[in-house]
Amino acid sequence: MKAEAVIEMIGRGIREGRPAHAYLLVGPPRGEPARIADHFARTLLCVGADKPCGRCRSCEMVARGTHPDYMRVEPEKKSRIISVGQVRDVLRQLGMTSFVGGGKVCTLVAADRMNKEGANALLKTLEEPTASTLFFLLTDRPQRLLPTILSRCQRVTVQEPGASGGEFGGKLAVALGRLAPSGEPADAGGVINGFAAAAGVLRVLKELKQSVKDLYDGDAEEDDEVEVDPGKDVVNARIEALYREERAGLLGFMGDWFRDILALSVCGPDAPVVLEDFREATAAAARGMGAAGALEGVRAVEELSARLDTTFPEAVAVEDAVLKLAEAARRSGARA
Ligand SMILES: [Zn+2]
Repeated sequence: MKAEAVIEMIGRGIREGRPAHAYLLVGPPRGEPARIADHFARTLLCVGADKPCGRCRSCEMVARGTHPDYMRVEPEKKSRIISVGQVRDVLRQLGMTSFVGGGKVCTLVAADRMNKEGANALLKTLEEPTASTLFFLLTDRPQRLLPTILSRCQRVTVQEPGASGGEFGGKLAVALGRLAPSGEPADAGGVINGFAAAAGVLRVLKELKQSVKDLYDGDAEEDDEVEVDPGKDVVNARIEALYREERAGLLGFMGDWFRDILALSVCGPDAPVVLEDFREATAAAARGMGAAGALEGVRAVEELSARLDTTFPEAVAVEDAVLKLAEAARRSGARA
């Protein structure tokens, strides 16, 4: 769903006095999901007339990140984890009288980064909801959250603006588009398309890594905290961790891509799709690939995600997965 539609939907629930206690916003946790959570923090805490007015003291404090009733938890910089201590601090704050006598909003950025203890602490609160607190859990890896937490949240998949999946999603779509058989003599086409697609995917990942590195360097320069030079190994480990987060988001895009192809193959051109912006491209792929190819695509992406969570070499894993896809697309296309 596009962010504006999500805002409209959640807003309607609030206006009608039946908001979900917790929303799980699935998408890049610092992208649209974060913007949506901020929007509701401003709206619910605003004391002006036209909410969010953007001018009242509450709105200003939300914007500065200093509003006592808006809690925003992010993974700790060093460990990349949301610790139980962080969760408990927030829950303690939730227990206090609110600043303006209204509600409270709590956002967990990259909620899948909560450790087990933290997740259990949060779960207790989610199980005994207080009407005045609205939770937003932001993640691109919902499968990593405890099922008990998932079951307490209303889940919404948020589409990034423009090309879904951001700049890199668009590039990935181009690379994956090469998988559909071109109508060249089938055998050769499958292999050549596969290598072209694999090279394309690897190129996108390389660019992604560079952009993460540039972003990290930029952040480090802006950082006010005085930090002793952490050393090259630590910096590289942090960049790698950030890159893995982004890459997981991109794999999520890949999974959606094949799920959409599957939906279009099975239910026809009007089937609801996640990546609305890519409907034309996925429809074209669906014609070449068919349901069987798409299903294999979904499986291959899952397998690839699992492999990349280990120390398995990325390039080999990606090439393996994409060649398998090309083969599946070729077989499936040949049958069609
Ligand atoms: Zn305001």
